[in-house]
Amino acid sequence: MSSASDQEKLRPPPPHVLIFPMPVQGHLNPMLKLAHLLCLAEFHVTFIISDFNQHRLLQHTAASAAFSRCPGFQFRTFPDGLPDDHPRSGHRAMEFVSSVANVTVPLFKKMMIKENFLASAARRPVTCFVADGLLSFAPEFCEENGIPFIFFGTATTSYLWAIFRFPQLLEAQEIPLGGKSMDELIESMPGMEGIIRRRDLPGFVERAQAVVFNTCEDLEGQIVAEIHKHVPRVFSIGPIHHQVKHRLAEKKAESSIITASLWAEDRSCMDWLDAQPPRSVIYVSFGSLALVTREQVLEFLHGLLDSSQRFLWVVRPDSVTGSDGNDPVLTELMERIKGKGLLVEWAPQDKVLNHPAVGGFLTHSGWNSTLESIAAGVPMVCWPYFADQTTNSRFVSEVWKVGLDIKDTCDRKIIEEAIRDLMDVRKDEFMERAENLAKVVKRTVSKGGSSYNNLDGLIQYIKSLVV
Ligand code: UDP
Repeated sequence: MSSASDQEKLRPPPPHVLIFPMPVQGHLNPMLKLAHLLCLAEFHVTFIISDFNQHRLLQHTAASAAFSRCPGFQFRTFPDGLPDDHPRSGHRAMEFVSSVANVTVPLFKKMMIKENFLASAARRPVTCFVADGLLSFAPEFCEENGIPFIFFGTATTSYLWAIFRFPQLLEAQEIPLGGKSMDELIESMPGMEGIIRRRDLPGFVERAQAVVFNTCEDLEGQIVAEIHKHVPRVFSIGPIHHQVKHRLAEKKAESSIITASLWAEDRSCMDWLDAQPPRSVIYVSFGSLALVTREQVLEFLHGLLDSSQRFLWVVRPDSVTGSDGNDPVLTELMERIKGKGLLVEWAPQDKVLNHPAVGGFLTHSGWNSTLESIAAGVPMVCWPYFADQTTNSRFVSEVWKVGLDIKDTCDRKIIEEAIRDLMDVRKDEFMERAENLAKVVKRTVSKGGSSYNNLDGLIQYIKSLVV
């Protein structure tokens, strides 16, 4: 009679999924959670991470203990191509796009070829490649090497759609062009002047066999359906962080959700929140990349203080520009907030948003933050910084109607009024809508919900790719 471990040896190895995010917090978070979901489906997963981020992840989270319960999981590390003292934030975060392309990607390709697409005695060579939507080398690499390519969108689907439609917008002259044709060379793209034409602008989603979105049909169903007309398979499986929570509970798994924090979480804020009345605190955070000037900090501080609401504010180290640590105006204001507000350098955000004392979120509208807030039923004041955030904030205020958008301003009076409106004057109205939306979004990742079914569909699809 054969033992369980013999049977294990006889069983053919599972699919081997390669996951490669851009090395930034907001991309690492959902893609690491996707890795966890695929490990729960007992797949082998290889996760590409920069040395810099792996070091921080292991230092600040329990990721290594959590993944030790996932025998099929492995990290592969590479340099991100930036010097150690590079800020990796603000508009300079965009430098990742070229440093990853010039340094990380060639090393990655070399390793893939040398190691026969990561085959080993226990592992198949990679059976599909889930690539961050910003990695434009992926479709060609997959086509050349016969690997199925799955596009992962970390931003809102609506934002991706706007980019995807860019050539058509140009063609239809909806974007001001002065009547130039699609064959006209683009002159205003640094580094590519005189090379690409309008018709060469990105459309690489179309080359994917499948697309995975961290969204759900209840939030962006119409847009997901539009994208589906251009790619054979679309799996909207979000909010991924909630999908992980649900699947872990369903499996009665011992492990908890893997956090991907690149900074140490200051948990003292949870004790502070415990001492505050229900729904009385506005949580303030502008994510992992945004920088704020000294003047903007002053406007926010005055706005928060004048609104008379309690607040918990994340001020990342080095995120304030134009001020050294000894700024007397800032020091005085910091004194004034005592008792009303608390500042921390990095918070356990999802836990904070789910704390009963939190009644609002002043956010930069990053897509992860937006989804976390929606799933926690917390209304938002949106102050978008860049990229998809300007689109996300519009959807929050005009489509889902769970917040206010104060983009393109940074004025203490506007900030004060928006916070009062959200937390006081129209509190019941916003809370009711936010709580209803949270219920809808939670249903979508529960058994029978569309994101739940779509994740099952994705798992089946990845299985079908094994030849
Ligand atoms: N985050 C966190 N603690 C903080 C601030 C942010 O854990 O103090 C997490 C947050 O939960 C989210 C991510 O960092 O998952 C930020 O991603 P998002 O897409 O919102 O914005 P980005 O940082 O990419 O601009």
